[in-house]
This record gives sequence, structure tokens and C-alpha cells, in this order.
Amino acid sequence: MRIRPFEYHTAETIKEALTILEKYGTEIKVIAGGTDLLLAMKQKKILPHHLLNLLEINDLDYINDEPSEIRIGALAKHSYIASHPIIRNEATVLAEATGMIGSWQIRNVATIGGNLCNASPAADSAPPLLALNAKIVIADSKNEKNLPISSFFTGPGTTLLEPDQLLKEIIIPKTKSRRKANAYLKLTRRRGVDLALVGVAFHGELDESGEKLKNVAIAMGGVAPTPIRALEAEAELTDLSYEKAIKKIPIAAKAAVAATQPITDIRATAEYRKDIVDVYVRRTATKVLNILFNKDG
Ligand SMILES: Cc1cc2nc3c(=O)[nH]c(=O)nc-3n(C[C@H](O)[C@H](O)[C@H](O)COP(=O)(O)OP(=O)(O)OC[C@H]3O[C@@H](n4cnc5c(N)ncnc54)[C@H](O)[C@@H]3O)c2cc1C
Repeated sequence: MRIRPFEYHTAETIKEALTILEKYGTEIKVIAGGTDLLLAMKQKKILPHHLLNLLEINDLDYINDEPSEIRIGALAKHSYIASHPIIRNEATVLAEATGMIGSWQIRNVATIGGNLCNASPAADSAPPLLALNAKIVIADSKNEKNLPISSFFTGPGTTLLEPDQLLKEIIIPKTKSRRKANAYLKLTRRRGVDLALVGVAFHGELDESGEKLKNVAIAMGGVAPTPIRALEAEAELTDLSYEKAIKKIPIAAKAAVAATQPITDIRATAEYRKDIVDVYVRRTATKVLNILFNKDG
């Protein structure tokens, strides 16, 4: 399949990239790893006249550990994120999810920024970042703004980004809790190299006394037009002791299912996706509770 001719630009700094974007507006698309974009161009879903390569911008590929937050540059690759000790310790759920994206070849070229900006409802990095209350930094040639990631996705394949804007970085706030744990589960049709039929991220913390669950966050991908949080399910488990929370997990799982609006497509029926949400909320919740309350052995 041939791609329509386009003019190719490359930028070495963020400022340069933003100036080029401002100049070409809707005529230009940015390319990072290209694992989503090149396919869309080959399928003629996106036919840009100009393409701006971001991969030469060195200061967008980093993971910075700061006292109150972790900052991830938009060009950080999934393989780097999945294996980074700070992410594995502080944001395990994101390490797990990025480690499950595609094959190792894909993870070595594909970026977290591309995963979020492509805005697939099933993007694997989205549920962990929603569950961790991450923020995103969006830049244009005039200024930068900081937004909760929950406001970023506007529909399947669409985000708040304007054509002259870049996603610059992702900020994960560090929690002050004595103890926290989180987990991600994903179901695919083919083992490994496939988008999630359903992805579930579960996060929980212990309160000051160390006896009750707080800051529960459940986020899901592949079951609504955008990745979503299951707020009512989270409320079912908040402020409970281990014994009460464990008993309440089936109710929370049902509440999570009620928050979904899955579609039936060639890969799975809506009913099947709902069943998987029920099972995966139970499994991730049980795993996280057992870690938090030291019940693993
Ligand atoms: C075989 C295969 C398996 C895959 N498996 C999975 C999977 O298991 N899970 C999953 O979630 N995804 C999967 N994907 C999809 C894809 O690999 C990911 O979404 C990837 O993270 C996209 O990143 P990229 O750098 O390649 O983005 P690109 O293709 O370069 O860009 C994607 C989109 O984002 C825009 N963009 C990129 N960076 C920025 C930025 N910083 N600011 C503004 N806009 C930007 C581009 O203009 C484009 O519209 C798979 C793809 C393939 C081909």
C-alpha cells in the first residue's frame, strides 16, 4: 500500500517543533514511534500534507524522579517505562501495563505520548494513569498548561489537543501514604501482541492507622468511548477494613460493570467485555488488598 506524498520536517527542540506546528496547523501531523500513525496513513485514514518527526528532540525522552512527583517525557518508550526502577516501585501498575503493550519490538519504538494522543479507548497506558491521578502538560508556541488526564480524552481517537499543540509530559503525583499498591490486568484476543479487549487498573492505599483502605481508584479501558474511572465502585471499598473490603469486592465489581458502555465488535461482545470487567476488578482488588494488608504469606 502506498502512502500519499508529504513534506517531512524534523525538529531538534520543543520550541522548534511548536513553531512548525503553528505554521502548518491542520495540514501537519506529528510522528513519534509511528506505530499507530503510519498504519493510519497506509489505510488512508489520515492523509497529512506535512509530517513532523519528534524523535530527534532529546529533552522529551526522560523519567525524572522528583520529591513529590514523577515526570515522564512524552517520547519515553514503553520498554524504558516498563523497566524503570522508579516506575516499578512507585507506579507498578504503569510498569505492568506498558510491559504488556504489543511485542518487544513495538515497546522499543512506541512512545507513551503516542499511546495517549492516539486516544484508543483501549490504550494500555491510560487506565493506570487515570488510576494514579496523573496530570498532563500540553504546550503550544505561546504557553503550557497542566491538566488532569481525566479531561484529556474526548472520544474514540480524539483528545483536547489542538493541531498546534504537543503533549509534552505526564506527571504522576507521589502519594504520602505509608503503604500503597496497584495492579493491571488486560485481556487480549491473541496472546501478547494485541490491543486490550478489556484493561483494568486498580489502586489502593492504607490510611494513617494502617487499618483501612483509602484513595481507591479503579480505571478501565476498552469498555467505553474513552478510558474511564469507576467512581461508584471505588466508593464501595473506601474506608473499609480488610475483612469488610474483601467481602465488598463483588459489589464493587458489579458497580464497575455498571459504569461501562462496551460495544459488540468483531473481537468480542459487549456482554463478554462486561463479564471480564467483573472478573478483573475482583482479581486486581483482591491482589491489591492482599499486598496492602500483608495477607500474601
Ligand atoms: C503490532 C502492534 C501492536 C500494538 N499493541 C498495542 C497494545 O498492546 N496496547 C496499546 O495500547 N497499543 C498497542 N499498539 C498501538 C501503538 O503501538 C501504541 O499506541 C503506541 O504507544 C503509539 O506510540 P507511537 O510513538 O508509535 O505513536 P505515533 O504512531 O507516532 O503517533 C500516534 C498519534 O499520536 C500523535 N502524537 C504522538 N506523539 C505526540 C505528542 N507528543 N504530542 C501530540 N501528538 C502526538 C500522532 O500525531 C498520532 O496521531 C500496537 C500497535 C501495533 C502496530
